[in-house]
Amino acid sequence: MLYKRSSELFVAANKVIPGGVNSPVRAFKGVGGTPIFVKEAKGAYLYDEDGNRLIDYINSWGPMILGHAYDPVVNAVIEKAKKGTSFGMPTELETQIAELAVSMVPNIDKIRFVNSGTEACMSAIRLARGYTKRDKIIKFSGCYHGHSDSFLIAAGSGLSTFGVPNSPGVTEGTAKDTLLANYNDIENVKALFEANKNEIAAIIIEPVAGNMGCIPPAKGFLEALRAVCSENEAMLIFDEVMTGFRLAKGGAQELYDIQADIVCFGKVIGGGLPVGAFAAREEIMNYLAPLGPVYQAGTLSGNPLAMAAGFEMLKALNSDAEIFNRLDQKTAYLEKGIHTVLTEANIQFTINRVGSMISVHFDANPVFDFETAKNGDNETFKKFFHGLLNRGVYIAPSAYETWFITDALSYKDLDFTIKAIEEVANEL
Ligand SMILES: *Cc1c(COP(=O)(O)O)cnc(C)c1O
Repeated sequence: MLYKRSSELFVAANKVIPGGVNSPVRAFKGVGGTPIFVKEAKGAYLYDEDGNRLIDYINSWGPMILGHAYDPVVNAVIEKAKKGTSFGMPTELETQIAELAVSMVPNIDKIRFVNSGTEACMSAIRLARGYTKRDKIIKFSGCYHGHSDSFLIAAGSGLSTFGVPNSPGVTEGTAKDTLLANYNDIENVKALFEANKNEIAAIIIEPVAGNMGCIPPAKGFLEALRAVCSENEAMLIFDEVMTGFRLAKGGAQELYDIQADIVCFGKVIGGGLPVGAFAAREEIMNYLAPLGPVYQAGTLSGNPLAMAAGFEMLKALNSDAEIFNRLDQKTAYLEKGIHTVLTEANIQFTINRVGSMISVHFDANPVFDFETAKNGDNETFKKFFHGLLNRGVYIAPSAYETWFITDALSYKDLDFTIKAIEEVANEL
């Protein structure tokens, strides 16, 4: 395939946008080559500026769970836009989407809408800290909760239980309040609670990790976190920005039957517009301004276009009893196909999958945390990525990302993809 126009556009973008992109992963640094510039998209397909058609396995990193330019969402946004795009005042639509979200997700009474997953997670930990009157939080290495300072933290060295900044610009003062634990390692979490008695406000976790490839929680792990939090009067925050409205109507809380104290949303909840949200039981949410002392606000929060898109998306998911089964079956079919062709080609690999989240790691050993995720062979991944791209299949341009399956994919698309993977595997 040719990427002449994309290459030209990338050169132009680089002159006025750092790295030519507005979010780093888009720059293809993990795989090399030129980012693809998208012209338009419909259903399961992207159409780029050079006229190539790509089957899309990223789907805007999750939101397009029903396919691109999904008609009910598009029409709702158009109709809303004609009536004004922002007021900075309450609208009935905000209550309607809030009622629907609260009815779909277990264990939440109230929800506050923000503009991104980053904002949702940032606000959730502020709320948890304010409510518990404690400063420290535990996060897991390899989990991503957006780019706010408290989360851009790497594990400290040696005996230190403190985190250290993993981006310049994050202060050590901030980093010292974030403790790092290994995913799926409950003893690690217990040791942190032991060493920081009555200081930990919350654990924040992706209940299915999606930002180091897909990593499912080990059996009993989420239950154990729930128990540790309850024992220590700390809050359990589920960052369901990826898993919410994807793994089930009620997200990972429903799938694993675990109750979190605060739940964060993003991606699917906005139907492709910039939306995040966080939610909890009433007594916790009432601790937020204007009812309570914890401050949180947003000029464009609850924006009518964003709410219209999100509301149509949630209505569509809520009214289709088979949607999550169908997504699971399509993804299972893909998993089986990939497994067969990679095995036949003698490739060392591991596939992780939960519902419609799936990732392929080029390492034969189990992948269950950040360390094991890093063992994957990145050179093989790069060839795999470009081989698929050349055949019109677009997966995430990084070995550390999950693929997000959309219901717009047909079994014909899946067969095409498996065939492409077979061809690429034979060249690896
Ligand atoms: C994408 C993501 C975020 C950040 O959301 P943005 O909308 O990119 O700010 C937070 N948490 C998880 C689990 C995510 O996948």
